Amino acid sequence: MKLSNLTARAIFFVAFISTLIAFLISIIFQYKIFKDETKLIKNDYIEFKKNEIKNEVNKVFNTISAKETIINNQIKDKLKDRVNIAYSIANTIYEKNKAIMSENQIKDIILTTLKDIHYQEKNSYYFINRNDGKAILFNKISKLHENINILNKKDLSGKYFVREQIKIAKEKEEGFLETYFVKPNSTNKKEYKKITYVKNIKAFDWHIGTGEYIDDMQEHIKDNILKDISTVRFGKNGYIFVNRLDKKALVFDGVKLPHAKDYPNDELYKEQLNAIKNKEGGYFFYKFKKLNTLKEYKKLAFVKKYEKWDWIIGTGVYIDQIDQDIIEREKKYTKNILNQISTIVFSFLILLFMIYYISRKMSLHLDKNISNLIKSFKLASKNYKKMDTDKLTYLEFKILGKSLNKILLSRNETEMKLQRYIKIVNENVIISSTDEKGYITSVSEAFCKISGYKESELLGQNHNVVKHHKMNSGIFKDMWIDIQNGNTWYGEIRNKNKIGGTYWVETFIQPEFENEKIIGYTAISQDISDKKRVEFLSITDELTKLNNRRFFNQVIENEISRSIRGDLYLSFMMMDIDYFKNYNDTYGHKAGDEALQEFAKVLKSHSNRISDCAFRLGGEEFGLVFTAEDEEKSLRFAELLRKDVEKLRIEHKTSKVADYLTVSIGLVVRKGKNIHDSANLYKLADEALYKAKNEGRNTVRTN
Ligand code: GH3
Ligand code: MG
Ligand code: MG
Repeated sequence: MKLSNLTARAIFFVAFISTLIAFLISIIFQYKIFKDETKLIKNDYIEFKKNEIKNEVNKVFNTISAKETIINNQIKDKLKDRVNIAYSIANTIYEKNKAIMSENQIKDIILTTLKDIHYQEKNSYYFINRNDGKAILFNKISKLHENINILNKKDLSGKYFVREQIKIAKEKEEGFLETYFVKPNSTNKKEYKKITYVKNIKAFDWHIGTGEYIDDMQEHIKDNILKDISTVRFGKNGYIFVNRLDKKALVFDGVKLPHAKDYPNDELYKEQLNAIKNKEGGYFFYKFKKLNTLKEYKKLAFVKKYEKWDWIIGTGVYIDQIDQDIIEREKKYTKNILNQISTIVFSFLILLFMIYYISRKMSLHLDKNISNLIKSFKLASKNYKKMDTDKLTYLEFKILGKSLNKILLSRNETEMKLQRYIKIVNENVIISSTDEKGYITSVSEAFCKISGYKESELLGQNHNVVKHHKMNSGIFKDMWIDIQNGNTWYGEIRNKNKIGGTYWVETFIQPEFENEKIIGYTAISQDISDKKRVEFLSITDELTKLNNRRFFNQVIENEISRSIRGDLYLSFMMMDIDYFKNYNDTYGHKAGDEALQEFAKVLKSHSNRISDCAFRLGGEEFGLVFTAEDEEKSLRFAELLRKDVEKLRIEHKTSKVADYLTVSIGLVVRKGKNIHDSANLYKLADEALYKAKNEGRNTVRTN
């Protein structure tokens, strides 16, 4: 992967992951805040509802006491009014009649008038007592003439209520008094609180009064209050309920029941009893149907005991609203979150696009720098120049470019030096490389120069394109064995150039390996043609161009060794022209030379094989070294040569054996192992030649 792409991807990946994490963290925190808030809101809501219903109940409590006071006052006013009415009736009767009637007559009229006055309340009546404690009017009956002393009468609480009344009449003229009495005409003996209003009648030293039983009043008050309570409504469905401690419902479902009714729900009633254990009232949760519906909803209730009347006053409030509110809130929240998500996703996409764009740009920029660096490096490297670091925009690349330039510079210097050396070597050292089969893969200029071929003509050719036919094939065989075994071969090779000419090289051939396997060979050669020429001259006879005696001395040793190695026959012929002194004398020295040249030609024509080698050993004496299958064949060959000399038909008048030029031949044929040494071989041949001379000349003799 490209560095720039990797960088771009890494930036993109990191940005993606960090944005995603930030997004998730934000969502998680928001959710946590939302949950906490929801809890808080729920608690606040419950708290608010608690306060609301507590307030409503407390309001009712306040209303009850206010109402009680009002009604109490109304009753007191009523009693006062009634007493005042009776008083003014009595007074009027007195004033109108005091002149015309006796006091007792007037009293009778008054009593008759007042005794029958009664009001709606069944227990309501007037009473009159004398201020000395004698009863005058009681229970609608005149006691005027009975002289009943009631001064010491006590009520159920032990109060001398008559004395109290007298005290009020005398001291304050009028006033209220609380007493406890059994109700008249009542079957039970329960005492009831009674409130009485008393007023002094000065004219007769009487006091008049009337009273009401408080409980009768209270029933009235309660009735009134319950009516009021039943009308209380607050909030959406809020109403007040009232139950009694005897498990009777008074106000139920927001309706005042005409008669107290058994409370229908035991469990709920128990909850209420439990909650009112706290004097300040208590709360409980329950489920109840809504007004005008049948389905039950979650409610919170507050109840408080109204001690005075053993009432449980309470109210409930539906708190299902909060659940709905919370559902609404959750909906809103979800919507909000979705909105956020879509906004974030949108921004995220924009961000990603921007990041992609930026990272792409950076990547391209980076890419450009890298490719510029590579390009200019390649160019500089190729052209042996310095890199152009101006196109690189980043400092790091510039620094890198400069460092590379330093390396390039040093490499260039080395390279130039190397190139110079290579050029020198190429021009001056004959180098050729071949594949493992001997096909040329590369050649140096010097090789082309010496071989006369162009490089293109040589590449792909087998190396034997320059092989000279006169080169001993045995040498090549040995060479191949050596180099194929991985060894270096050294030797002198006679090669043939493009136009058929000869050149000599001294060559090192070494194999080239790859993974221990030979993949080709490289030959490094040196031109030794001049040396060879000198060498040739030094071993060649000038007149006949045959090898000279010196060369014979070199060759004979090799040939002996070779025949020993190969267990071959080595033949050595020694020749001497017959009566050549006479020839010279007869035809002149020059003609003698020409005759020698003619003879040499015959000799050459019989030494065509590579293993054959002819020599001019000296004067008109010649030698021929050759390999033959056996002695007989060698002899036949010698005979053939002798005859071919005869066939030259070079006139020789002064020869004593023939009319023409002839030759005597001494032949030695030996297997290498039987040859003592070269001197011995020479001696044996010389002896054979001597024999041939002595035994008639123009003949072959062996030894
Ligand atoms: P024989 O049959 O016994 O060999 O008799 P011959 O005359 O050949 O005797 P010998 O071998 O002693 O003579 C050699 C002569 O060869 C002497 C010399 O005149 C002649 N000769 C030697 N070298 C040359 C040469 O280079 N050119 C010429 N023209 N004659 C030479
Ligand atoms: Mg001789
Ligand atoms: Mg001779």
